[in-house]
Amino acid sequence: MKIFKKPDYAFIKPEKEFEGLKIYYLSKHLGLKPVDLDVNVYQQPDTKTLQKISSYFPINIKEMVLLNQIHSDKIVHKTNKKSSNPTADGIITSLKHIVLFIKTADCVPIFLYDHENKVIGAVHAGWRGTSLKIIKKAINKMEHFYKTKMENLYVFIGPAIGPCCYEVGKDVYESFSFLGKAKEDFFNRRKDKTFMMDLKGINAYLAEKEGVPQENIEICELCTYCNPNLFYSYRRDKNETGRNLNFIVMTK
Ligand SMILES: [Zn+2]
Repeated sequence: MKIFKKPDYAFIKPEKEFEGLKIYYLSKHLGLKPVDLDVNVYQQPDTKTLQKISSYFPINIKEMVLLNQIHSDKIVHKTNKKSSNPTADGIITSLKHIVLFIKTADCVPIFLYDHENKVIGAVHAGWRGTSLKIIKKAINKMEHFYKTKMENLYVFIGPAIGPCCYEVGKDVYESFSFLGKAKEDFFNRRKDKTFMMDLKGINAYLAEKEGVPQENIEICELCTYCNPNLFYSYRRDKNETGRNLNFIVMTK
């Protein structure tokens, strides 16, 4: 992935580009400020924030979908242009111009693209969603509704907390037993019985296990915790954190 720095904000884009596909991982300057977050209402942005984003990027405020994210494995299939923000952590659609947002503050924003059938997907994967294999469920939904072939599927794994900073306890470690032997590749055991976890790596592994070719998977190396000038991080800023915004949209 590559980073583009502007005077007052930055964004990250995948190396791999497709005509009519836009994927942006925005820096915190275009995110949701801590003061604007109402933790009781799914951390949704206000109109002012969305208007600001639509002034920087050619996207329509009326066509934005912002999931009410709940750390689940629920994936919705969007089939009409009616404006709504469903409660789920993943969404797929073949509709053009519909902007799928994922809000993050350490969790992994993942975007999917079937370039043959022109289908996109967006997934919010924290450790809970990842342990529920939400990426697999999103891929399976694309296979089910669109007969997506794995060789045509691209997976873009955005900026999130890295194994450098993501310390987890035994409870989290144990909820990944389904990985079998591969688990040890993604949990670095420390002397104090905690683990440094590679959340992005597990999601890439799960996509590969579904049959997505390794060369179709792009991972952003940036860690949200390590880059306070770029990203909000829940681990770093605790309850003072905001939310980073990331989106995917098809224009053709
Ligand atoms: Zn880090």
